[in-house]
Amino acid sequence: MLEIKNIETYYNLIYALRGVSLTVEEGTVTAILGSNGAGKSTVLKTVMGLIEDQPDKGTIEFQGRRIDGKDTEEIVRRGISLVPEGREVFEELTVRENLLMGGYTRREKSGIRQDFDRIYEHFPVLRSRADQWAGTLSGGEQQMLAIGRALMARPALLLLDEPSLGLSPILVREIFGIIQAINQSGVTILLVEQNARMALGISHFGLILENGRFVMKGPSQELMQDQDVREFYMGIRSEASAKGYQRWKRKKRWR
Ligand code: ATP
Repeated sequence: MLEIKNIETYYNLIYALRGVSLTVEEGTVTAILGSNGAGKSTVLKTVMGLIEDQPDKGTIEFQGRRIDGKDTEEIVRRGISLVPEGREVFEELTVRENLLMGGYTRREKSGIRQDFDRIYEHFPVLRSRADQWAGTLSGGEQQMLAIGRALMARPALLLLDEPSLGLSPILVREIFGIIQAINQSGVTILLVEQNARMALGISHFGLILENGRFVMKGPSQELMQDQDVREFYMGIRSEASAKGYQRWKRKKRWR
């Protein structure tokens, strides 16, 4: 569905993506993991045409048609929506108005009512907050609104940038459950996350980005079994390194 081939992205002199290739299969959830500054958000921004200097190397195809070099509005019209990191809801507008803004690129306006209903089914709390200023919502509610707003454009592919950022563990589980339900309703998802455990838990495929390059890719179930992924991205130490640490601690004690 989405095919990125050998993309290089710069911010002036900063070389952020160094030849990135990625395929997102229709109907799947694909997760990009990596540490701070690895270039995860840049991948999503590059797909959306949001980087000032368009990449001069590589191609991006969506549903068989080139989208690299197109402007963001055109990319949204073709069926891709982004939920940016930090949500960025319109604080001075109500929940309902925020959702309406999400549908602004749609040429045909019929069906908006049904879309509201569909979004309220995923996020019942938004229905009860419909006339509330978005700026007064909690962090979790704002994340729900940002996802709902992106869905108003009826995307075939939804890009999510760190949906777990700043949320409590319970809310993170709730949001990830909803992301899974959205996928099961037919929307393909590409998400960027630092919470590797949750992201691999709900995704079909995972990729690990380091310094602007993918260093590992595979089915999420396999990545979850990989020792390095467990240790460096999920915070689960291997038995061997845990034993090594215990030995080191014992030696230190006797010195
Ligand atoms: P995080 O998890 O912290 O959000 P990330 O993996 O999403 O990190 P990016 O935001 O894509 O990383 O940034 C990749 C690199 O590009 C970093 O070195 C960052 O400092 C740099 N960068 C990002 N945005 C800009 C910008 N607007 N101007 C200059 N450099 C930028």
